[in-house]
Amino acid sequence: MTQKAPEFSATEKVNLLGLSPIQMKDFFESIGEKSFRASQLVKWIHQYGVSSFYEMTNISKDLRDKLNNIAEVRAPKVVADHLSKDGTRKWIIQVEGGSCIETVLIPEGDRGTLCVSSQVGCSLDCSFCSTGKQGFNRDLTSAEIIGQLWIAAKAYDSLGPTQNRVITNVVMMGMGEPLMNFDNVVAAMQLMMEDNAYGLSKRRVTLSTAGVVPKLDQLADHVDVSLAISLHAANDELRNELVPINRKYPIAKLMDSAQNYIARMPDLRRKLTIEYTLIDQVNDRMEHAEELAKLLEGVPCKINLIPFNPFPLSDYQRASGNAIKRFQDYLIGEGFTTTVRTTRGEDIDAACGQLAGAVNDLTRRSQRYRDRAESVVKIMEASS
Ligand code: SAH
Repeated sequence: MTQKAPEFSATEKVNLLGLSPIQMKDFFESIGEKSFRASQLVKWIHQYGVSSFYEMTNISKDLRDKLNNIAEVRAPKVVADHLSKDGTRKWIIQVEGGSCIETVLIPEGDRGTLCVSSQVGCSLDCSFCSTGKQGFNRDLTSAEIIGQLWIAAKAYDSLGPTQNRVITNVVMMGMGEPLMNFDNVVAAMQLMMEDNAYGLSKRRVTLSTAGVVPKLDQLADHVDVSLAISLHAANDELRNELVPINRKYPIAKLMDSAQNYIARMPDLRRKLTIEYTLIDQVNDRMEHAEELAKLLEGVPCKINLIPFNPFPLSDYQRASGNAIKRFQDYLIGEGFTTTVRTTRGEDIDAACGQLAGAVNDLTRRSQRYRDRAESVVKIMEASS
């Protein structure tokens, strides 16, 4: 497995939070220490939530001093924490440089799905996504990506593969396009699945992509997570409009690449998830459902229909309840497992495509939350 070696700076402290297990070994070797230290550190950080080397009791005093001089365990800073009346929880997290990202936890029975961001903003500019409207700021570091899981798990005292795991699933469906930040997303996902860290199974970690085909072609060399494709249209003309990256990598190429990805998975039962956001009068008619069924014939997949979530600056409307039902029934009739994603956390703007945690937006949004009597709002002072 090839992985780009991180550059360990001689002047800046290395943030160990985001190092994948392999990168952690490289780090210890680079400072002349035994590589078994790597798994000890990974455990301390991700299973015990420890960020001070002095609390790591099976590490010698000398090594703790050495680490303290050259390294650190630094998570991004939580600046606001909102709880929806339906139990959905959203953290607004400030990353270096001052911008904010959003991380959402969606509890559902004994499942807890954490929706993780991969970039500040997004460059793909899908016409129905509010993250795209704010433009692209920068890639998150691997520490900032895994830091979202670290923060959320710590909030429930549920780090590592504990019995009472609150976060059972992770989806890379927050802000950003994960395949546009390939190396950092891969390192973070490796930690999600690492036994010494969070120990999540590959079925419970999902990468969602709008279709960055050359990167998707490389993904199976590094991880074997579940894959979701943001399709939203089954013909190139419409998809070019909704998901502009389609002009570069059209549907046929994307579907080939996605199928090659799952074909390389050892588990024969694995299926793609096809995401399809239903927008009133745009892609929600029967002809669209028929086209979709035709495209997906013979593709091992399940379909997840997402009712469009409106946001200011968008003229699109959510498909009607009838249109959604008709669309779903048709696909089920054609033999596809088809679910409709229930919209969660609407009262805290935590639904798909509503994540837009630009820092200058915080005050206005926070005021709005306070005005909503039903939602519980907890603004936290920036800790450190
Ligand atoms: N960049 C990744 C992750 C995006 S968010 C991707 O494109 O897959 C996860 C899903 O929410 C995607 O399928 C995305 O297209 C969808 N989405 C974005 N904005 C939405 C909105 N306003 N309403 C409903 N779904 C939306």
